[in-house]
Amino acid sequence: MTPNTPKALWKKLYLLEDWLATGFSREHPDLDIDETIAAPARPAGRIAPTGIQPADRAGSLAAIASEITACVKCGLSLNRTMTVPGEGPLDPPVLFIGEGPGADEDASGRPFVGAAGQYLDTWLPPIGLTRAQCFIANCVKCRPPQNREPHPDEIAACLPYLEAQIAAVRPRMICCLGRIAAHTLLGTTMSISGLRGKVHRWKEIPVVVTYHPSAVLRDKTSLRKPVWDDLKLLKNLLPE
Ligand code: URA
Ligand code: SF4
Repeated sequence: MTPNTPKALWKKLYLLEDWLATGFSREHPDLDIDETIAAPARPAGRIAPTGIQPADRAGSLAAIASEITACVKCGLSLNRTMTVPGEGPLDPPVLFIGEGPGADEDASGRPFVGAAGQYLDTWLPPIGLTRAQCFIANCVKCRPPQNREPHPDEIAACLPYLEAQIAAVRPRMICCLGRIAAHTLLGTTMSISGLRGKVHRWKEIPVVVTYHPSAVLRDKTSLRKPVWDDLKLLKNLLPE
């Protein structure tokens, strides 16, 4: 108990009163009440307020990005041109997570700027979003050679960056683009078809899963409709 708590104050007042009335200190059982105050409920879809102000969250986001720039925690550091930490505003309606940088991203240091990214850009206006409003990140921040899938040890080495980014950015929703992002974030090995159409959670943030734009570009006939359904689910979960 610190001297500033109400209980400490009452103790002092009682002591004064006792001394004035009787000349000695008496028992005060009402002082044994539990002062513990229940933690406030967390609002749905938000990480609990940490007391960190937006300026500090922006600072930690920048610190994460500069740590990534110097990172050699996995073998993907050997072949990269640029790291691709991700980009976007704090408190976005949606944080999209892809797999890892491709050639265009490796050359520019920016996520989803190649063909898959340009296609992703067309998904947003129909659900009332612009790219500039969203945060775009990847599971691994360095390009896997020949665009191979990142290996589990590379994903594991890079995951703390993604988790720290989500905590700093505090998106209202997360959208996993493809199997690697869904498996990485949700810790499952279920297929996309089994994961999509439902609302999952990372910490308390709602997560939806859909196909990766590159996969849709390869098979528009069968994947366009399910992606549109997933985007509608995402839109319906966002506030008006
Ligand atoms: N594919 C991804 O998964 N991420 C990118 O940044 C670009 C293409
Ligand atoms: Fe570091 Fe991630 Fe790049 Fe590996 S992929 S070197 S863990 S930033």
